[in-house]
Amino acid sequence: MVKTKSADVIIVGAGVIGCTVAYYLAKQGVSVLLLERGRVGREASWASAGILNHGRPASTHPYERLATLSRSMFEPLVEEIIELSGVDPEYRSTGGIHVFLDEEGVEKARNYYRGSILAGLEVEYLEPADLFELEPTVNRDARAAIRFPGDGSIRPPRLVRALSLAAQRLGTRILEHSPVVDLEIRSGRVVAILTPEDRIQGESFVLATGAWSGLVGNRVGVNLPVYSSKGEIVLLESLPGKLGQIVNNNGHYLVPRSDGKLLVGATEEAVGFDKSSTVHGVLELLDWAFHVAPGLSDATFVTSWAGLRPAARRGGPFLGRLREFENLYVATAHNRSGILLAPASGLLMSQLLTNRPTSLPLEPFAVPQSEA
Ligand SMILES: Cc1cc2nc3c(=O)[nH]c(=O)nc-3n(C[C@H](O)[C@H](O)[C@H](O)COP(=O)(O)OP(=O)(O)OC[C@H]3O[C@@H](n4cnc5c(N)ncnc54)[C@H](O)[C@@H]3O)c2cc1C
Repeated sequence: MVKTKSADVIIVGAGVIGCTVAYYLAKQGVSVLLLERGRVGREASWASAGILNHGRPASTHPYERLATLSRSMFEPLVEEIIELSGVDPEYRSTGGIHVFLDEEGVEKARNYYRGSILAGLEVEYLEPADLFELEPTVNRDARAAIRFPGDGSIRPPRLVRALSLAAQRLGTRILEHSPVVDLEIRSGRVVAILTPEDRIQGESFVLATGAWSGLVGNRVGVNLPVYSSKGEIVLLESLPGKLGQIVNNNGHYLVPRSDGKLLVGATEEAVGFDKSSTVHGVLELLDWAFHVAPGLSDATFVTSWAGLRPAARRGGPFLGRLREFENLYVATAHNRSGILLAPASGLLMSQLLTNRPTSLPLEPFAVPQSEA
């Protein structure tokens, strides 16, 4: 028999975005019900590397303003959720380097460095000798490197666990294994959401359904231009501290954890909802890793996995109310930066849903009109 439940705000999808929106709403005393098809935080947010790039305080670009605000929120947010949940998501501000290995490496590094200085960023130029002293495992053919001391990382599965527990401590209810299969609409308003077991009523509804947002949008006749972008990761293990900071090169990265684990990421492919870890993906990542950091070749192979990023066909992320409905909101399409952007996304959505002024304008994050 279908049971009726209710809350002020119903959030669909318990990834990092749904959990962060729930957390900031719960802090305002709002009653929240979070519905998750599977288990909390087991999709893109679990698969993520958790890199937190430095902000760009001088930029006026809406995305950069969102990223800068979000990056600045991590330290206090992590303190709060550790206190409430007892789970430490291992936020680390290690710094990150970009290594240049090809012939034109010095020129590219200099240009990157100059551009970063002009953008008002804290950045260091590393000659090869400085680079090898700092990171002895890096390829000796490196021509130069740029270091951003403001780069850091976090362990995403722990972050989502800490956020969901903290939100629950503040009163949020979470229903796992509750796929939303339909929405009941009357006169431009969502009145209830349906799962196979429950009919759930609320004042406002938020879709935080990640790579599946397009499918959920179809249920209510809205074209949410979100597609799934698969990313594979390889997990290795070495001695703790053998690599001190994040290493970037040609769109790939190595992320050291404090226990000696090393993430090598990530591939990028639009292959629908296939989450398999493939031979070609693992080979691509290992080839790259041991070219850039041959000193890590004695690391052991632990495992590999893949996740589905919610990518936008245009723009993104999407944060705000869908113009077709009075009370249906969306928080999705964070693509490669959903962990970094989660705190600001959660804060802005909670401000919007409680009719408070938003810390940043939300218009740049509307679903593009022509495709909505
Ligand atoms: C390999 C990889 C590496 C990454 N590295 C980084 C990084 O270093 N830094 C960074 O900032 N970002 C990174 N990202 C991106 C980041 O992980 C994502 O942008 C972010 O996790 C998206 O969060 P989400 O909550 O929108 O989606 P998800 O975590 O996928 O959560 C969406 C949830 O909605 C649920 N759902 C869907 N449909 C329904 C339904 N009908 N009913 C109920 N529930 C539903 C799903 O089960 C899922 O749990 C990476 C991603 C990948 C895959």
